[in-house]
Amino acid sequence: MADPEIKTDSRQMLARLRDVMAEDSAGQARLNTITTLIAEEMHSQVCSVYLFRDEETLELCATEGLNPDSVHQTRMRMGEGLVGLVARKGQRINTPDAPSERGFRYMPETGEEIYSSFLGVPIQRLGEKLGVLVVQTKDSREFADIEVDALEVVAMVLAEMAELGAFVGEGAALTALHTLPVLLRGSTGQEGAAQGHVWLHEPRVVVTNPIAEDPQRELERLQEAVEEVRVGVDKMLAGARGGGKEQIEVLEAYRMFANSKGWMRRMEEDISRGLSAEAAVEKEQSTARARMQQVKDVYLRDRLHDLDDLSNRLLRKLTGQGLDTGAEMPSDPVLIARNIGPAELLDYGRSLKAIVLEEGSVGSHAAIVARALAIPLVIHANRITNEALNGDHIMVDGDQGIVHLRPDDTVVAAFKDKIAMQAEAQERYTSIRDKPATSRDGVTIALKMNAGLMADLPSLEGSGAEGVGLFRTELQFLVRNQMPKRSELSALYARVLDAANGKQVVFRTLDIGSDKVLPYMKPNDEPNPALGWRAIRVGLDKPGVLRMQLQALLRAAAGRRLTVMFPFIAQSEEYTAARAELEKALAREKVLGHVAPEAIEVGAMLETPSLAFAPDKFFEEVGFLSIGGNDLKQFFFAADRENERVRRRYDTLNVSFLTFLEQIVQRCEVSNTPLSFCGEDAGRPVEAACLAAIGLRTLSMRPASIGPVKSMLHRLDLGELRRVIYAARDDGAQSVRPMVTDFLRTQTRTA
Ligand code: PEP
Ligand code: MG
Repeated sequence: MADPEIKTDSRQMLARLRDVMAEDSAGQARLNTITTLIAEEMHSQVCSVYLFRDEETLELCATEGLNPDSVHQTRMRMGEGLVGLVARKGQRINTPDAPSERGFRYMPETGEEIYSSFLGVPIQRLGEKLGVLVVQTKDSREFADIEVDALEVVAMVLAEMAELGAFVGEGAALTALHTLPVLLRGSTGQEGAAQGHVWLHEPRVVVTNPIAEDPQRELERLQEAVEEVRVGVDKMLAGARGGGKEQIEVLEAYRMFANSKGWMRRMEEDISRGLSAEAAVEKEQSTARARMQQVKDVYLRDRLHDLDDLSNRLLRKLTGQGLDTGAEMPSDPVLIARNIGPAELLDYGRSLKAIVLEEGSVGSHAAIVARALAIPLVIHANRITNEALNGDHIMVDGDQGIVHLRPDDTVVAAFKDKIAMQAEAQERYTSIRDKPATSRDGVTIALKMNAGLMADLPSLEGSGAEGVGLFRTELQFLVRNQMPKRSELSALYARVLDAANGKQVVFRTLDIGSDKVLPYMKPNDEPNPALGWRAIRVGLDKPGVLRMQLQALLRAAAGRRLTVMFPFIAQSEEYTAARAELEKALAREKVLGHVAPEAIEVGAMLETPSLAFAPDKFFEEVGFLSIGGNDLKQFFFAADRENERVRRRYDTLNVSFLTFLEQIVQRCEVSNTPLSFCGEDAGRPVEAACLAAIGLRTLSMRPASIGPVKSMLHRLDLGELRRVIYAARDDGAQSVRPMVTDFLRTQTRTA
């Protein structure tokens, strides 16, 4: 029951707000009228709008009741004062006695000390914090729920108005959102710099009519849309039965939300307060997003994501805005998405100039594909999907993990210089493409490339790689929705060998587990997946897939040379058992009358420290070894390669690690075992030079790294570099990097 004392009528307030919007005023004048109107309707002496100037600073942008001179003067940091607290927490504060409230900050310029009660609500749109709306009264009273709801509904409408640029005007702080330059810091997913124009993977829905006149009609619209979505989800669910458990779980969650009474009730209430159906959906979505930012539990976050997706579906239905907005993809698209699957990314292919994701991780499938396609990628770019609009100019610095959205002229100039320098370097690399990677003191290093997709193969020619030192076969499994068939795989491997045109391709058998989870395989809930049931452990325990893959490889190679490498071998018996599987498969193929490969080389990846200490016999028997530096380093330092906090903590050029690698080199020299290094460090010029200096003679890397590494090796005397490394070690240095960097600087100058 409404309190008879309370005269606030949210529908009347919204109707007046709509009239203001229809008037021919703009900017500051419009905002001033709005604050007066809200103060009147809320029966409060004060109404103020604070908007964010930057991520951390709020500014008083309009007020009814406070000192007008403090407008655009009074500022506060996020978390500072009651207004700052509302902003930081994204939650309302409703207090009868503001000055005695914890966190209250007195701002003499506003003259607010005479006001006792305070109600502040966040102005936010889809998790994006825009500002705070405040009402204050002289008498000490707590605002009733009905008033709080009314103010929240108004804040929602203000957020929509800001989105539409309704505050564009003379006030410096009132520039529309989405027109200012924005710098976002994320993390590197794939190096490289590129500029282009924004292409949103899922364009945002814009609510153009937040206020509605006929609540009954809006309720019907909402119910119809929800019903349609419910039917759609049920259909999908029926189709998914018998499919993946995870997919069903997601759909079940969808259905649960779609049938949730609380969710419906809240939206219906907002409609009865005067919001349109779409505005009511978006208000709920904003609340869910705000919660999402605070929830740490991954499972709960996923569920909130589901709710968010469901709201998007509803919004698209209600506004009639589909995924296809009719916008044309720019000629230089930079893809922006919250997250994206590998198959979707492959659909875009090489047309993309760069990719910016709000989520994602270095080891995510999307990142692996982006790397394979050599497209600069920035991940963890917080808020990018809220900030960017289709067609915005954007510059992506994949090396630093930085994104410049709508950059100003100085940034554009500096960035263009960077791109030009890269292009210049690229020309230099092309000119040495067909030359061997021989150092100044006459040591030649074989440079090979890592690959995993058919799309990588053209780089074999373009980069000047001597072969494929690591073909990650799991990528073909990861980009599919179901287990590939043997015939598909064998056709694919045959095409890879055709494209390699006689150059060696080292096929690594399926390396799944850890972060690489196949969508169609039952997920294993392991406490520590990097140390868990992965790679060859899966292959030997459940040999069906391994056998199928080996058969496919043997058939593809028919009459040609085949090189197979087993991942993650931790003890020699694993290699012996895997090799026996290959022998068995070969014998079976012969019985079936298939042509055998002309020659077969079999090797192992050295990715756990244990294998470096395997018996001599193993080193003598194994056909070749390849150091998987990414995994080896994480186990050597006990530092998770996927954990951004610890990933960079330990330097590859740390003396302990280099000494360990050198011991592996020496063991292989004694046993005459061919050795290569195929982790990411092989593609970093300084690291690659040090690896060569301690005796590695084959390095396998991303194709784009071959030019820079070769160019570095050409300028170097590896013998001298080795002496520098030893000197640093004798000096007791933790890492040889400082001395090596100094030395390389002199070498570059004298070259
Ligand atoms: C490695 O661990 O260094 C490696 C090359 O394998 P992946 O990165 O695919 O685990
Ligand atoms: Mg590995």
